[in-house]
Amino acid sequence: MTYDLSPRPLNPAFEAPPITWPNGAKSALFIGFDVDAETAWIGNNPSNIDRMVTTSHGGYDARVGIAKILELMKELGLKATFFVPGWTALAHPAACEPIVQAGHEIGHHGYLHKMPDREKLEDAFEEIDRGFEALEQALGVTPIGYRAPSGENFPELLAYLAKSGVRYSSSFRDDILPYRHRLADGRPGLVEIPVNFAFDDWNFGMSSRTSPRPLFGRDAVLPLWIDEFEATHAWGGITTLVLHPQVSGRPMRWHILREFLLHVQAKGDVWIATGAEITGHFEHLEGDQDR
Ligand SMILES: [Zn+2]
Repeated sequence: MTYDLSPRPLNPAFEAPPITWPNGAKSALFIGFDVDAETAWIGNNPSNIDRMVTTSHGGYDARVGIAKILELMKELGLKATFFVPGWTALAHPAACEPIVQAGHEIGHHGYLHKMPDREKLEDAFEEIDRGFEALEQALGVTPIGYRAPSGENFPELLAYLAKSGVRYSSSFRDDILPYRHRLADGRPGLVEIPVNFAFDDWNFGMSSRTSPRPLFGRDAVLPLWIDEFEATHAWGGITTLVLHPQVSGRPMRWHILREFLLHVQAKGDVWIATGAEITGHFEHLEGDQDR
């Protein structure tokens, strides 16, 4: 493999168009949960399949986390997008079915949560195909949204996702507004709903034997989230959450998330929407601009 390191924009996507949010809202909030369950621990490290305590971090999703998150969404009257690896849906159908029943959106999150690797194209494409098959089989859904497992992507995969019927991605970190990808051949690709790394709860709340890290509590996380949200709101952008039930479904973190969401709701001028709704709105605006 040789690498083309010539200077150029490494993401050739189209510029984000000016955007107005529905209902006169000043900014938008996209609540995204990654329901990795055990795949977070076995997808990139298959030998962990023999380590029951290590994988039990992910087991929390099905035993506690998903149900507690659904309870919170119901209490606050919110709809979210749950990015579910195909393996998770097949392994834990009883825990995942209530997500669909409650009217939340299911997104594609790979099959076994393998990080997409450009040097293994066939493997990367198979993760997409098997993810679709498993979500259809276990939950009867065909997702239109995709969040890259372990947050990685490359041109061939973006093209494969578009060909597979995916309409939006939520993985990139390079904007505060949705934009449209441009495929390597110049054609328009998926809509991107960019994420904000400050809202990935794994950074603050996950530590394990194999990856020990400091944990941060309310005094660190809640002010950080509120400050970042307020600044994004003032700029009219979108605040995209990257949450995991095995992190934010734990008792103390559940309360941090609840307080943050109450803060956002109290503003009164934030459009809180699913990825599918945001994509539909973006496509509608694009249609207006074409006219
Ligand atoms: Zn994930």
